Amino acid sequence: MSRIRLLSETVASQVAAGEVVERPASVVKELVENSIDAGACKIDIVIRRGGISLVRVIDDACGMDRDDALLSLERHATSKIRSAADLEAIATLGFRGEALPSIASVSRFRLTTREPNAIAGTEIIVNGGKIDIVRDGGEAPGTQIEVRSLFYNLPARRKFLRSENTESRNIEHQLHLQAIGHPEIAFTFARDDRLVFQLPVTANLIERIRDLYGTQLLDQLLPIAATNKPRILIRGLIGRAGVSRQTRAQQLVFVNGRAIENPLVTTAVREGYHTALMKGQYPVTFLFLDLDPALVDVNVHPAKREVRFRDPNDVRDAIVRSIQQTLESARIDWQEKFRAPPVAGVVDPGRFATGRVDSGQRQPGCRGRPVTLVVPLDG
Ligand code: ADP
Ligand code: MG
Repeated sequence: MSRIRLLSETVASQVAAGEVVERPASVVKELVENSIDAGACKIDIVIRRGGISLVRVIDDACGMDRDDALLSLERHATSKIRSAADLEAIATLGFRGEALPSIASVSRFRLTTREPNAIAGTEIIVNGGKIDIVRDGGEAPGTQIEVRSLFYNLPARRKFLRSENTESRNIEHQLHLQAIGHPEIAFTFARDDRLVFQLPVTANLIERIRDLYGTQLLDQLLPIAATNKPRILIRGLIGRAGVSRQTRAQQLVFVNGRAIENPLVTTAVREGYHTALMKGQYPVTFLFLDLDPALVDVNVHPAKREVRFRDPNDVRDAIVRSIQQTLESARIDWQEKFRAPPVAGVVDPGRFATGRVDSGQRQPGCRGRPVTLVVPLDG
């Protein structure tokens, strides 16, 4: 008697969704990543009840025509890669073509989308993976996705959700990552009808940090000293010696614009701080590593939050060295400040007087605007 059966499309989707959609914050992550990849200049996020009752993401990006909107809900349907070779140099946040079908299979899902020049847009309603309605819709150019009643058809997963408060905090953390990773995009975030933050467009990481966390945090940070490692550019800001936190919440690391978790990076950061960090405490980092996409494998984790480096030792050395140099030059600056008292009437241009330099690099997001690097004037 044969025992093996092919799972129905819906069940297969729900099984696969388990990897991508762990919790409401995963939904937010995937939807916001899609908006960024689509070239959004502005992304609005609304959640209710920890994202369990509602997640809504609205963007002003390129939108989709009806065929693409329907295709986007198919498993392994993506506009971002075409062949296995493309996996070797991924320039977008998404590439697996799994997020939308996964999310739609475990929620009540509504997508409205319109291309900027199209007369009409499209509205698609999916319940538990089944397309119920396809019709004209979509008022504004761009895409709006609403995800309601997450896991309503998957009680096992629903039981594992934490309190609404905890889920909301996870979502907020996820949005901090996206907002810090993309200062060139405006973000608004509303939780249970209360506006949590509203971030204007800026091409500058420092301004984005200030808008999100306030000037107080900025005062505790140092711009990273330029590294001279070829092929790896390290930039961003890190906490001064002695500045630390009890959790990892402000230890942000981005590789080619993607927020990642990577033990090698974490260890290297710690090593860079050495005794400047108390035991059991975590550093504050807004650390950006930019390297040739061919030197990073991002296809390691279904939720794409892990990466593998082709030359881990190079990456490690570059991080350790740049953190050491940053802390060291801050120490020297500090000493000199006390040696030569400032001349009265001369205004200190401030540690964050920075030059804006077009890096020449184009990243996905906001229609490929130039990414502005913040370069310390003395760097
Ligand atoms: P992936 O991002 O890995 O390609 P998704 O399931 O997240 O897979 O999305 C499938 C496709 O739907 C994307 O490749 C993209 O073409 C399209 N898409 C999704 N979200 C948006 C959006 N907000 N704006 C425009 N196109 C989108
Ligand atoms: Mg995606």
